[in-house]
Amino acid sequence: MEILFLGTSAAVPSKQHATSCIAVRSGPDIVLMDCGEGSQRQLMLSPFSFMKVRAILITHLHGDHVFGLPGLIQTMSLSNRTEPLLVCGPRGISAALDAMMSVTEGETQYPVDVVEVSGGETLRAGCFTISPYPTDHGIPSVGYVVRDADRPGRIDAEKARALGIRSGKEMGMLKVGQPVRDVMPGDVVGPPVPGYRVAYSGDTRPCASEDEAIAGVDVLIHEATYSDSESSNAEEHYHTTALQAATVAKRAGVGHLILTHISNRYDDRAVLLDEARSVFPESYVADDMGLYELTSKGLRQA
Ligand SMILES: [Zn+2]
Ligand SMILES: [Zn+2]
Repeated sequence: MEILFLGTSAAVPSKQHATSCIAVRSGPDIVLMDCGEGSQRQLMLSPFSFMKVRAILITHLHGDHVFGLPGLIQTMSLSNRTEPLLVCGPRGISAALDAMMSVTEGETQYPVDVVEVSGGETLRAGCFTISPYPTDHGIPSVGYVVRDADRPGRIDAEKARALGIRSGKEMGMLKVGQPVRDVMPGDVVGPPVPGYRVAYSGDTRPCASEDEAIAGVDVLIHEATYSDSESSNAEEHYHTTALQAATVAKRAGVGHLILTHISNRYDDRAVLLDEARSVFPESYVADDMGLYELTSKGLRQA
């Protein structure tokens, strides 16, 4: 699984940073999480194809998370997309998208399925299973846990050979669930390896519903608008500090933490990274176009 940060700035873009948009890719499938202004151009500048986006998951309707949505939807249509697109967001997303598309006379030549969620639902797009959860941002808002498909279990090659399995091709058949002569996959292949789970907070204060939803995920992408010195600002505006995000990650037992949605007041984002690592060493701070690969060996910045 790969995670590409297309925009990592809070509230307004800067010369260096676009507003919120994150792409998660597994095999040929991509889901976008939030779609701030300029996201489609960031996608075009990236190695990810915007035509492979199966779903766009919106966390809430603040402009820095949705101003890119109508433009991207229209461009997909002008690029002759025929596949359906899932757009998922909290209450209000359907009316907002209708309004944006109708006043701009945007028409799509492909089906756009808009689903309003509040947490607890399960949706599917491509190889991904999508689980929204409620967050605390002062307006209807959700975070998301996305999981890609389970992978085949490990094959016990020694046992397979003892049962007369000779070639790599036969091993491969067993691994994908096909019997070979009288050898059944269950005889030599272990249980499927669960898909990777990535959680994205959107904008939120730390909250119990988040702790519950993100427990044990492989990667937590969390907003960290402020440093700890601005904690009263974070509380007042329903945001999270880097220190709080790291505390959430530690408490939830996640594998890795990546901070995003950083206020432009921080020219040097190392301040936030140091703060997070003091609590949770497996922390990173995202930058625009930052690409991370999640494999069985862990998370690696590409
Ligand atoms: Zn925001
Ligand atoms: Zn917001």
